[in-house]
Amino acid sequence: MTEIKHMEIWFVTGSQNLYGAKTLKQVDEDSAKIVEGLNGSGNLPVKIVFKPVVKSSDEILDICVQASADKKCIGLITWMHTFSPAKMWIGGLKALSKPYMHLHTQFNRDLPWSEIDMDYMNLHQSAHGGREYGFINARMRKNRKVVVGHWKDKKVQEQVAIWCRTAIGWADSQGLKVARFGDNMREVAVTEGDKVEAQIKFGWQINAYSLGDFVEGVEKVTESEVDNLYKEYEKLYEVAEDCKPGEKFHENVRVQARYEIALKQFMEEGNFKAFTTNFENLVGLSQLPGLASQRLMAAGYGFGAEGDWKQAALLRIIKTMSAGMKGGSSFMEDYTYHLDPANEAVLGAHMLEICPSIAAAKPKLVVQPLGIGGKDAPARLIFESATGNAINVTLIDMGNRFRIIVNTLDVIEPLEKMPKLPVASAFWKPMPNLADGAAAWIYAGGTHHSVFTLALTPEYIETFAEYADVEFVVIDKDTKVPEFKKELKWNEVYYLLAKGL
Ligand code: MN
Repeated sequence: MTEIKHMEIWFVTGSQNLYGAKTLKQVDEDSAKIVEGLNGSGNLPVKIVFKPVVKSSDEILDICVQASADKKCIGLITWMHTFSPAKMWIGGLKALSKPYMHLHTQFNRDLPWSEIDMDYMNLHQSAHGGREYGFINARMRKNRKVVVGHWKDKKVQEQVAIWCRTAIGWADSQGLKVARFGDNMREVAVTEGDKVEAQIKFGWQINAYSLGDFVEGVEKVTESEVDNLYKEYEKLYEVAEDCKPGEKFHENVRVQARYEIALKQFMEEGNFKAFTTNFENLVGLSQLPGLASQRLMAAGYGFGAEGDWKQAALLRIIKTMSAGMKGGSSFMEDYTYHLDPANEAVLGAHMLEICPSIAAAKPKLVVQPLGIGGKDAPARLIFESATGNAINVTLIDMGNRFRIIVNTLDVIEPLEKMPKLPVASAFWKPMPNLADGAAAWIYAGGTHHSVFTLALTPEYIETFAEYADVEFVVIDKDTKVPEFKKELKWNEVYYLLAKGL
């Protein structure tokens, strides 16, 4: 993937030759000022690049072909300053393979009440030019984001920024390499899926590797490399007394450090951005990679336990989309309920692998037996999640299509201390409430695994799903289960008929 700092979004303004050179020069200048204003706002995560106004079918096709081929260009912002007859856009939009949005804005915010004349009206035609352009997009069944308002308005810029981040996520998704160590957990249904279809829809390259490939790397890690990494652990985490040098569990921590170093090297050498493990496939390893998986997630890699490559890839993309934003993201599992009717909530956790990017405070590094898998006691980080608005996102394979499900959450502090809980956790109230939220999730076939993020809102995921042209459903404060069930049924018909699958 191109690094975010090298990515570009092209700003393309539509018009036509009818207006004459003077007006078109003005259109060009206005567009350039908007680009300058957006870049100067500090609100956008990626550079916007001005492109000269397009006035004919050939110019539109040219810019769309160039954008599709350009490695730095991750998407287009399109704007109709004037009226751009939309048949001229058909060829270009057919050729365009990058995400795009329609910024329905106008150069001037206010009507010049005392000055307004027909020249002004003819220059500032976004109000109807944008509708002509909107029609051809709708007519061609194109998925695109529409943002309406004045370009200097902070709310509009924030919406453009959200869209930019979805384009960053989509760019990251293309060719994203996922390394699977071993296969999925035996007999488990929901972690399965069509990897060929995932590559067609999302661009993911998902391949399995023998644990032997990884173990070979583990054996090559030197003691001094482990010493150095351990020093980093001491700086970042509160290391339990029995894990310190010379104590009984110190070697268990060093084992995870070796895994971390070898895993990172494996990922870098193969250009992998996400990986899966499976506690049923640990030949050659004495522990399930716990601390090591947590550390790689914190470094920006996607992770899925029990072979769950779908959530591994999704986590990586969500981390890329939210880079630099407040709030971390982690692999997650709905683990245990608190069913007090006055305070129903979910305790989310996993056997070990929760990302410390979501931690509310300095994590503790401890070693405890796992009680499953029959291996040595693994080192892991224990912490509680930061609180606030969050979402759980999951991707499932419905057989004839992928479905992405989002549930909005209110993450709160646990009601009491949990001194014996040996894993990292998050405690949340799903929207609209536990009963309806969980029922809707279950009706939709949602996994026990998900990607938990404190950084993003459903809008990011919805737009991402539209790029891939896969089903998207959200469970939020407005969800009514009977309506939600109907939506699932309607979607079934939509994908059978409209998509011909
Ligand atoms: Mn699991």
